[in-house]
Amino acid sequence: TADISTISEKTLSSILEKNRTYYTKGKVADYIPELGNMDAKAIAFSVVEKNGKVFNVGDVQKKFTMQSISKIIALMIAVSEKGETNVFDKMGYFGTDQPFNHFSNLETTGKPLNPMMNAGAILTTSLISGDGEKPFLKILDMVRYITKNQTLDYSTSVYESEKSTGHRNRGMFYLMKNNGLISGNEDQLDNYFRQCSIELTAEDLAKIGYFFANECVRFDGDSKYKNAEMSRLIQSQMLIAGMYEFSGEYARTVGLPSKSGVGGGITVSVPGKMGIGVFSPALDQHGNSAAGYHMILDLVKQYDLSLF
Ligand code: GLN
Repeated sequence: TADISTISEKTLSSILEKNRTYYTKGKVADYIPELGNMDAKAIAFSVVEKNGKVFNVGDVQKKFTMQSISKIIALMIAVSEKGETNVFDKMGYFGTDQPFNHFSNLETTGKPLNPMMNAGAILTTSLISGDGEKPFLKILDMVRYITKNQTLDYSTSVYESEKSTGHRNRGMFYLMKNNGLISGNEDQLDNYFRQCSIELTAEDLAKIGYFFANECVRFDGDSKYKNAEMSRLIQSQMLIAGMYEFSGEYARTVGLPSKSGVGGGITVSVPGKMGIGVFSPALDQHGNSAAGYHMILDLVKQYDLSLF
């Protein structure tokens, strides 16, 4: 294996080219109709090294929606406002063998399994204080801060598409309201749909991975949100549930805290070291980017990055 100081655009580029055709093994998500318009062939790979240096290859300008990756940002904000005990009183720290949109355990214990699956994430967002869009705006501001990219915004067309077809998420929302976990109205669910629709690039994802890998210190060294406990919490959830029912096998093969989204992005934290961002919209059967997973796997093998 090679030393991480030797990572370059050249090494990333050869990994990308090796995996470029993996998209043929996956399928672009179309259960949110607007996502079906993504170019299946798009592919990007970014790394932010320990010193904050950024490496980008592939379709680096290409924007996509962060989808479930927004769940780690919402969790950070909810926990910083309400405290970890209050948030996890309403949901579990459990791993899962179920897909991201499963209702477990709303019908048994009454509480979501964890904040990484949809039910727990919808609940997490509802715990962020403020009326109307305010909780969403806090999430957007935090993503803008972490990426140091004030131009980031959400896609209104993806948002509308999710809102008009997200009946399963709406069902979860009302079941949790029935269970006494949610007190607000559907504005809170809209905030979840909006956060999923935030558009960014693979480079932005690498910066998010870097932030949680480095005690919530930004890639440029800004330490306004420095918090080692917060990064431990977020990374632990990424490790056990960030890739849904694939998380266990992913921990075996990649061995790094990671979070995927159905937009085709994955953010990876290499604790104490770097952040990795990948993008390729064709998804495998678990809802994780097919080519993205294989690019991460190759980088991890080449540089011996697994935690284990
Ligand atoms: N917005 C998507 C949904 O709620 C997010 C799911 C995901 O990225 N896994 O279905």
